[in-house]
Amino acid sequence: MTISEKVAYLKGLAEGLNLDTEKSKEGKLISVMIGILEELAMSVEDLEENALNLGEEIDVLSDDLADVEEVVFDEDEDIEDYDDDWFEVECPSCGADILVDDEALADGEVECPSCGTRYAMELSDDEDEEPGEDPEE
Ligand SMILES: [Zn+2]
Repeated sequence: MTISEKVAYLKGLAEGLNLDTEKSKEGKLISVMIGILEELAMSVEDLEENALNLGEEIDVLSDDLADVEEVVFDEDEDIEDYDDDWFEVECPSCGADILVDDEALADGEVECPSCGTRYAMELSDDEDEEPGEDPEE
């Protein structure tokens, strides 16, 4: 039984008592209370319906976002994993992100997509710092 149905049942019981809702103070009180309950029941049911609709919309958005992530990242793995196929470094000139992938490593150099500066890729084990990590100018 929904809240509205319970309120309707309560209203029927009250009507069965044949209360005088004009002259009897108790009758008027009960009549007003039932009116308020009817409004509350409608509000609650509207809210429940809205919450359900929002939940469904969030599910749809979540599915869409997963599709977008699949296209953007092209894989489900952690993109910050430096052991993976590619990683990003910050351009020392303009601060833009430069993608370093297998192709760049094979070419031995990368080009900043923002300012066009080219950098040689030197893979040495004794220097772990990324270019552009130093906060000082
Ligand atoms: Zn740059």
